[in-house]
Amino acid sequence: MKKLDQLNFDNTFCRLPDIFYRRQNPTPLPGSYLVSFNESAAKLIDLDAAEAKRADFSEYFIGNRLLPGSEPMSMLYAGHQFGYFVPQLGDGRAILLGEIKNRAGEYWDLQLKGAGITPFSRDGDGRAVLRSSIREYLCSEAMHALGIPTSRALCIVGSDEQVYRETIESAAVVTRLSPSHVRFGSFEVFAYRGQHEPIAILADYIIEKHFPDIGNSPDKYLRFLNEVIVRTARLMAKWQAVGFSHGVMNTDNMSVLGLTIDYGPFGFMETYDPEFVCNHSDHGGRYAFDRQPQVGLWNLACLAQALTPIIPVEQAQEALENYEPEFFRHYNELMGKKLGFTRPAQEDASLVNRLLEMMRASKLDYTNLFRSLGLFRTGPDEKNTVLRDQFLDRSAFDAWADAYRSRLQSEPEIDEERKVCMDRVNPKYILRNSMAQTAIILAQQEGDFSEVDRLLALLGQPFDEQPEMEEYAAPAPDWARNVVVSCSS
Ligand code: AMP
Ligand code: MG
Repeated sequence: MKKLDQLNFDNTFCRLPDIFYRRQNPTPLPGSYLVSFNESAAKLIDLDAAEAKRADFSEYFIGNRLLPGSEPMSMLYAGHQFGYFVPQLGDGRAILLGEIKNRAGEYWDLQLKGAGITPFSRDGDGRAVLRSSIREYLCSEAMHALGIPTSRALCIVGSDEQVYRETIESAAVVTRLSPSHVRFGSFEVFAYRGQHEPIAILADYIIEKHFPDIGNSPDKYLRFLNEVIVRTARLMAKWQAVGFSHGVMNTDNMSVLGLTIDYGPFGFMETYDPEFVCNHSDHGGRYAFDRQPQVGLWNLACLAQALTPIIPVEQAQEALENYEPEFFRHYNELMGKKLGFTRPAQEDASLVNRLLEMMRASKLDYTNLFRSLGLFRTGPDEKNTVLRDQFLDRSAFDAWADAYRSRLQSEPEIDEERKVCMDRVNPKYILRNSMAQTAIILAQQEGDFSEVDRLLALLGQPFDEQPEMEEYAAPAPDWARNVVVSCSS
C-alpha cells in the first residue's frame, strides 16, 4: 500500500492534444477538514488507509496542496441539456488531478469536484456544497454495492468557506474515482464545431484504453458505438430494476463507458410510481423514472450523430436499433431474478408488469415489497398473508399469486433456497432521501460526520440483514417526503 506521495500517476489523458482540456490548478480553500474517508475506494488506487489520519491529508483533497505526479486539468465537453444543445460546457468545477495506475494495471481518474473555477465555469463559482457532496459520496458507493456501474468516491473534505445557493452553505470537495470521465458530450463538442480529427483521436483513445478487444479493425468506430449502446442499455435496465432515478440525464452526464456519473438531484424510488420525478427543477418531467430508458436512446442518438464524421450514417442508425432489444433482454432478466426465477423468460414480463401495477395502485414501497417477496410460500394452503395484506385489492393479489405460484413450480429450488437467491438481488437497504438528509443536517449543524460513516458502512452491504440497522429499511417518514432536491448544488 502506498503513501500519498507514492501514488502511481500515469496521466494518459493529458498526453492527448490540449484541445480536449485546459490545464487548471485547484483554487485553495480555507479551513479544510476531513468529513469522511472511504477505505474500500482507497484500495482501488493502492492508497494506504492510514494516510487519511495524516494532519495534512485534507489539504491534498481540497486542492490546497498538489499530489506529486498530478497534472491538474479540466475537461472540455458540450451537451444536450433538457433537449437543447449547449455548444460548450466542460468541467466547471471539477478538476482532474490525473490517472492512477494500480497494481492490477487498472486506471482510475482522480478528480476533485468543487475545487474552484475553471475556464469552463461560465457564471458558476466552481464550488460544491457539503450537502451535495455527501449525497454524491453516499450514492455512488451505494450504487457500486448494488452492482451498478458507477464512478466511486474516495473522500469528502469540508471547508470553512461559505457559498451561496438557495441559502448560505459551506463548500466541500468530493474526490471521485472513475475509469474515465469522458462523456457523450466530449464528442458532441467537436461535431458541432465541424472538427472531425479530434473525434477520431478521442475515439481511438477510448478504444485503446477501455475497449482493447476492438483493436484496430476497419469498423472499429462502429464497434465502439455499439459497445456504448450495449453498455448504456444495460445501465438503464439496472437503474430501472433497482428503482434509481438519475434526475439530469443530459448528454454531458452520460459516460461512454456506461457508468453512472454526475450525481445531482438523483433519487431512489420509494413509493412505487413510474412517473416519479426526483429533480425539482425538471418541471416537464423529461427525466421521469419511466422515461429513462427512452432518454438513454435519445442520448445515444446524439452521440451517434456526433460520430457520423467517422461512422457512415446508415451504420450508426442501424446500430441504434440494437438498443431496445438489449435493454429489454437485460431488464427482463433482472426483473425475473427479482421474482426468484433462475431462468427468466420473455413470458415472465406479464407477471412482472401485473405486480408493478398492483404496487402502483397500492402505493407500496418498491424496495421493501420486492424484499418481502422472498417470503412468498408456494404450498397449496399458503395464503401469504403478510404479503397479501399490503395490497389494497386482495382479489387481484390472489389471482396474481396463483399465476406466480404456478410459474414457480417450474423452478428447481424450494422456497427457502429461492429466498436466499432473491435476497441477493432485492436489496434491503437503499439510500433514501431521508437518510441522506439526516446525515447532512448533523454534518451541517453539529459538525458531526458519524452518520455519513454509518450510512457508508450500511449501504456497502445492501443485501445483508443488519438487524441493528433495521430502522433504515423503513419507508420515509412524512417530513422527508417533501425534501426537495434540485440542480443547484
Ligand atoms: P451538472 O448538471 O451538475 O452536471 O452541471 C452542468 C454543467 O454546469 C457542468 O459543466 C458543470 O461543471 C457546471 N456547473 C455546475 N455547477 C457549477 C458551479 N457551481 N460552478 C461552475 N460550474 C458549475
Ligand atoms: Mg455534469
